[in-house]
Amino acid sequence: MLHKSINGAKDRYNVVVIGSGLGGLTTANRLARSGHSVLLLEHHHQLGGLATWFKRRGHIFDVSLHGFPHGMVKTCRKYWNRKIMESIVQLKNIVFDNPQFSLTTTFDRKDFSSILINKFKIPPAAIDDFFTTVAAMNFYDDRSMSTRELFETFFPGRDDVHRLLMEPITYANGSTLDDPAITYGIVFSNFMNKGVFTFRGGTDRLIGMMAEELGKNGVTICKNSRVDRIVVEKGKVRGVYCGDRFIAADAVVSNSGILNTVNDLAGRDAFPQEFLDRVKTVRVNTSSCQVYIGIKKEEKIDDIGDLLFVSSAEKFSSDELLDMHTASRTFSLYYPKTRPQHNRYTVVASMNGRYDDWENLSAAVYEAEKEAMIQRTLVDLDRYLPGVREKIDWLEAATPKTIQRYTLHTRGTSFGTKFEGLDISRSIFKAVQGLFHVGSVGIIMSGWLGAINYGVIVANDVDGYIRGM
Ligand SMILES: Cc1cc2nc3c(=O)[nH]c(=O)nc-3n(C[C@H](O)[C@H](O)[C@H](O)COP(=O)(O)OP(=O)(O)OC[C@H]3O[C@@H](n4cnc5c(N)ncnc54)[C@H](O)[C@@H]3O)c2cc1C
Repeated sequence: MLHKSINGAKDRYNVVVIGSGLGGLTTANRLARSGHSVLLLEHHHQLGGLATWFKRRGHIFDVSLHGFPHGMVKTCRKYWNRKIMESIVQLKNIVFDNPQFSLTTTFDRKDFSSILINKFKIPPAAIDDFFTTVAAMNFYDDRSMSTRELFETFFPGRDDVHRLLMEPITYANGSTLDDPAITYGIVFSNFMNKGVFTFRGGTDRLIGMMAEELGKNGVTICKNSRVDRIVVEKGKVRGVYCGDRFIAADAVVSNSGILNTVNDLAGRDAFPQEFLDRVKTVRVNTSSCQVYIGIKKEEKIDDIGDLLFVSSAEKFSSDELLDMHTASRTFSLYYPKTRPQHNRYTVVASMNGRYDDWENLSAAVYEAEKEAMIQRTLVDLDRYLPGVREKIDWLEAATPKTIQRYTLHTRGTSFGTKFEGLDISRSIFKAVQGLFHVGSVGIIMSGWLGAINYGVIVANDVDGYIRGM
């Protein structure tokens, strides 16, 4: 049942889920299907968290539908439903264009190997070794090797190859050359399996289908319902406060950021010192900026590819990608084939970004920086779609502050926390009985696929906990 506010909720549930990102939605769905009574509370007026969209002058803009790995097919079939799975389609033209190389690829192992052999002149044995090594990486591996060291081992001194391998993953999960190689290997291998995929019909259609499934399984959903406090007594969860309304629960699953969950929602007093000492080490990941470009209804644009990684920076560097004035961005092109029911063209440019760069600007400078970002983006887009400015009737920009405002995430993080956050998220229920966390942590549990799969893992934990009570 879907309610516009907390007024629709009962006073007690087996489980309260705070937040309707893909992780929260999945946990809520799995628990309801296992027979638990579930209340899902979302502060925003729309479900989906970062998997969101918005409408402007007849355009629908997708915020985080740029590409996910083929693993989504199996995950959606197993943990959501066949209808959702059937709308997952491949993006076949992934374009790279920078001063070091220009190429188009399907972004899978076969095509990447052939590009590395023929264009970059890398010996086949080195490529095979690299792919075999990254495919074998798993969560329990040694985390002391960085991605930089991994690349140097297999492709020493080849910063062009490093760029090809790293740039898309930095956009996909915010990781840098200095993060543990495992955070690279897992995500890169996921993509290399079969390429990059999208959801036909757009994010609005996907989240609508998920909401329908939640309804069928009996989840009570309240939007515009911000949880202010998770109530913990004697080391055990009792429920949540949403304004002055208390809802009792056997278990609470927070899909809010892990640091928000510990520091603000449960409050530090709820945790043992040993746990808080580990929380201190957690670094949040970086954020994003975007420019949304709407093409006039009567205009068309050429098919220049589905996802373009473009840069005019001479060399790749993680710092350059994060710079507020970066010369590197991705363009996601949404043709009528992406959202057949809508028949419009939109383009979304995405850049990595640091919250600190935007946080303290005066209102006037903030607006001027946003406008400058839009103009730099248009200069870049015009290289691929000459004269595109004339065809545009909507331009808008988002910054790390926008992301913070809509999701409440600490410093507007797009991809949760660095690796150390995973351990905190996975062990929070040992510090407070009945309190669980789901959502982007540790780089690998982020992205659409990571968040949904993590939702399944956490639902199993919660189910086990309640059955054992
Ligand atoms: C610009 C951008 C582009 C991206 N592109 C891609 C992509 O192409 N492919 C991909 O796979 N991934 C992409 N991602 C990442 C992906 O969208 C996220 O990793 C994933 O959607 C996060 O899901 P989550 O479960 O962690 O929750 P989130 O989406 O972070 O949602 C958390 C939810 O909790 C709610 N909440 C927080 N606090 C409270 C509270 N106190 N009370 C009630 N509700 C609360 C928030 O409002 C939000 O709805 C992108 C992210 C960004 C920012």
